[in-house]
Amino acid sequence: MDEDKKKTFMIVIVIVCLVVAGMVLKSTFAPSKPKGAKKPVWLVCTNTGCNAQYSLKQKEFREQMKDDMAGRGMPMGPAVLKCQECGKASAVIGKKCINEQCGSVFVPNYQQGGFPDKCPMCGISAIEQKQLENSK
Ligand SMILES: [Zn+2]
Ligand SMILES: [Zn+2]
Repeated sequence: MDEDKKKTFMIVIVIVCLVVAGMVLKSTFAPSKPKGAKKPVWLVCTNTGCNAQYSLKQKEFREQMKDDMAGRGMPMGPAVLKCQECGKASAVIGKKCINEQCGSVFVPNYQQGGFPDKCPMCGISAIEQKQLENSK
């Protein structure tokens, strides 16, 4: 290989390296959108006679959680927040039905078998839907 060809070859190698490095950097530092960060947290009051359903922004939820947990001094156990409506510590994290026509908010049932996110109003479950789609 003569000198000129060797030089061209080196330049090509350097350019390829730069391009690869650039691609790696780009993919590493590309801002990845946090999933579900904008989703509101749904709360359902378990206090009979109140049954309030409302949503909080993630940030509001975290702040209220912090306040409520600090007051009780018991960080363990299921998250129970002070209800916005009745003021009792009886609001638990609920799930909004994926069925837009239904739109009810319910408490996921993890005790019973089947799908914990099955809507008691219309019977639609996001997990079930996904499984059905995957089995197609
Ligand atoms: Zn309430
Ligand atoms: Zn529903």
